[in-house]
Amino acid sequence: MTQLIAGNWKMNGSLAANEALLTALAQGLATPPRAEVAVCVPAPYLAQVRALSAQLPSLEPLQLGAQDVSSQAAGAFTGEVSPSMLKDFGCRYAIVGHSERRQYHGETDALVAEKARQALAHGITPIVCVGESLAEREAGTTVDVVKRQLAAVIQANGHCISEIVLAYEPVWAIGTGKTATPEEAQAVHAVLRAQLKAATPQAERVKILYGGSMNAANAATLLAQPDIDGGLIGGAALKAADFLTIIAAAR
Ligand code: PEP
Repeated sequence: MTQLIAGNWKMNGSLAANEALLTALAQGLATPPRAEVAVCVPAPYLAQVRALSAQLPSLEPLQLGAQDVSSQAAGAFTGEVSPSMLKDFGCRYAIVGHSERRQYHGETDALVAEKARQALAHGITPIVCVGESLAEREAGTTVDVVKRQLAAVIQANGHCISEIVLAYEPVWAIGTGKTATPEEAQAVHAVLRAQLKAATPQAERVKILYGGSMNAANAATLLAQPDIDGGLIGGAALKAADFLTIIAAAR
């Protein structure tokens, strides 16, 4: 399957910095990439990124994503952004359950599953993040943790589970410069694939991304693993040259 390289800008950027980054990406994408490419940007910048993508023809393949989405469709939920609002701005993807949201905003497995369901109901593909903390890995519970996190999403979404993108992001590897080895990542991806297979005959079409300090130097070996279908890229997505190198390493 075509791999997906998705950048997660997190809470970074400004009008000027975004324009510089997208202009540099446009130059690098003059030759269309093999992989699918997306950038998940802070909500206030969705309109800017959409407008610039329309102005810069080589950004045509660049898909737009958000970093979160409400579990509610509309109404009295101050501060939330609904999936239909994201749709209005041309969003194809929304990250849900990023470890920073689970950790700093108390998002539970059930809430993440509901966000994924709302996104799908409005034609947005959720990029569902799962991953264990360092303590959980050291305690030998990695598989239990990621399976529990995915099970909640399967339970809430039924056969629609084949429409999600999944991202395995070991928490200890996010923003730390520590990366899972290709073998460690592949082992968890294989567990997730097997769990998806038990839930849907369409499990092979679910992209399972790896995220956690993926960079220009380590992307190629990670992306060569059989069950790694792309990457969710934080820090390296803010540097055009690095992000372009990762895109070029994808199949
Ligand atoms: C992320 O935020 O999803 C991520 C993988 O970050 P980084 O690449 O910086 O580790």
